[in-house]
Amino acid sequence: MNNKKLVIFTAPSGAGKTTIVRHLLKVRNDISFSISACTRTPRYGEVNGMDYYFMSVDEFKKKVAADKFVEYEQVYENQYYGTLKSEIDRLWAEGKNVLFDVDVKGAFSVKQKYGDNALSVFVKPPSFAILKQRLTNRKTEDEASMKKRINRVKEEMTYERNFDVTIINDDLEIALKEAENIVDNFLSLKTNMV
Ligand code: ADP
Ligand code: 5GP
Repeated sequence: MNNKKLVIFTAPSGAGKTTIVRHLLKVRNDISFSISACTRTPRYGEVNGMDYYFMSVDEFKKKVAADKFVEYEQVYENQYYGTLKSEIDRLWAEGKNVLFDVDVKGAFSVKQKYGDNALSVFVKPPSFAILKQRLTNRKTEDEASMKKRINRVKEEMTYERNFDVTIINDDLEIALKEAENIVDNFLSLKTNMV
């Protein structure tokens, strides 16, 4: 079995990609999460080195200058997020396929770079109102952060056509099952690694 594949989940903030990604990590032992570097402050319960490698903007920029990233984006003002080359190498060395939770631009970059060895999945909320409701219910964002995230949704939604497949996350159980099936099909396919 070729275990050097990449599965990328992307969506506007609040659509449910973290929920889906966490579920997939529970039900499959042949994939591991690509822990991104990021410059925002940790949310309650988030652990450095598990959810993200949290760092200062200065530290992040040093890594950019040293060409340490496969891709990175300033997703929100002064908030940088990026996939470290070392992270993909680490997971592949462990014989795992790599699972990503990245923004729409990062997802597009990773897909372009890895082609048929990567599957890009866009998670779509049933409506803008429901997305907003989910973000509010999550209670992780203050007013300013909420505004930043909501302001970006329209643009993020226009990226849908750039990805291999869309999952509409309305009923969570259905979306989780669909995600399981999509990932299962992709990881069973034989492709040549670059
Ligand atoms: P993202 O990672 O895309 O920002 P999350 O996975 O954090 O989104 O989901 C946003 C919020 O919506 C979370 O509180 C999550 O528990 C909730 N949620 C996710 N999917 C559903 C769903 N299908 N129905 C209702 N709530 C959901
Ligand atoms: P959050 O702050 O909600 O954890 O993440 C905000 C956005 O940044 C989400 O769309 C998330 O997928 C994205 N993100 C997380 N890690 C990365 C990364 O390594 N690269 C890119 N481009 N986006 C990321």
